[in-house]
Amino acid sequence: MAYCGRFAPSPTGPLHAGSLVAALASWLDARAHAGTWLVRIEDVDTPRCVAGAAERILAQLVACGLVPDEVPWVQSGRGDAYAGALQQLRAAGFAYPCGCTRKDIDRALGQRHQRFSQRVYPGTCRRGLQGKPKRAMRLLADGVVQWQDRRLGAQQQDVGAQVGDFVLQRSVDGLWAYQLAVVVDDAAQGITHVVRGEDLADNTARQILLQRALGVHTPSYLHTPLVLAADGHKLSKQNGALPLSLTEPVAALRSAAAVLGLPDLRASAPADWLAQAVPSWAGIIRAFANP
Ligand code: GLU
Repeated sequence: MAYCGRFAPSPTGPLHAGSLVAALASWLDARAHAGTWLVRIEDVDTPRCVAGAAERILAQLVACGLVPDEVPWVQSGRGDAYAGALQQLRAAGFAYPCGCTRKDIDRALGQRHQRFSQRVYPGTCRRGLQGKPKRAMRLLADGVVQWQDRRLGAQQQDVGAQVGDFVLQRSVDGLWAYQLAVVVDDAAQGITHVVRGEDLADNTARQILLQRALGVHTPSYLHTPLVLAADGHKLSKQNGALPLSLTEPVAALRSAAAVLGLPDLRASAPADWLAQAVPSWAGIIRAFANP
């Protein structure tokens, strides 16, 4: 399969130093493999999206020399594809309607949900809605998923025990869950390599379960180091990440490159800087593969 990679930002604000790291790594990886690089605007979580952010992100990428090979896909226009996938999952017995409120889930879990950081759905509605109105569609998520991350190495998650049956669509407003949208679009776009921030690594096992249920290809995964804010948490708008400056794109690229372990390259224009960075990235990924 010909290499196809992507950068998939959510338009919740402009790019900042942290998101540029994932964008740069995915672009470099695609170029180092002589592959295609796509950008996908992930605006399914509409309440969190900010007007104008998608255009701003695309302009910031272009200012850094990161130009997608095709017109970006926008998830808000992909509802029919997600509905088709959900129908397929339901027909195959992998998805079911759930009528539980948060309170119902807490009551069913008792003290149990303190064991894991997130509330693990106890599977109540696997036995049917029992007269409750539908509130969501969930994936029947059983089993331990093992996968190999190109940087982090062997990974495993017991999705049933650590996450539980997860939501694919919320009924109240019809919002599609990130997990479903990302898997359907990665498959539809023929993505062979996912390169994204390490904060998303925890979603990978869920996405692999969904890929298996839908009968689509599982891409290879590489999760990049995160940029930490002064408070030690992942850099985000909430802890003061500044929008990336368009006036000094090479400086922004050099900072992102340092996070990825690339040598300090100098050039006056982004295109020249990027051309030098591709062979350095190829060396770095060889080292990931043979630590
Ligand atoms: N849209 C997601 C985010 O911005 C990234 C999805 C992905 O790369 O899989 O956090």
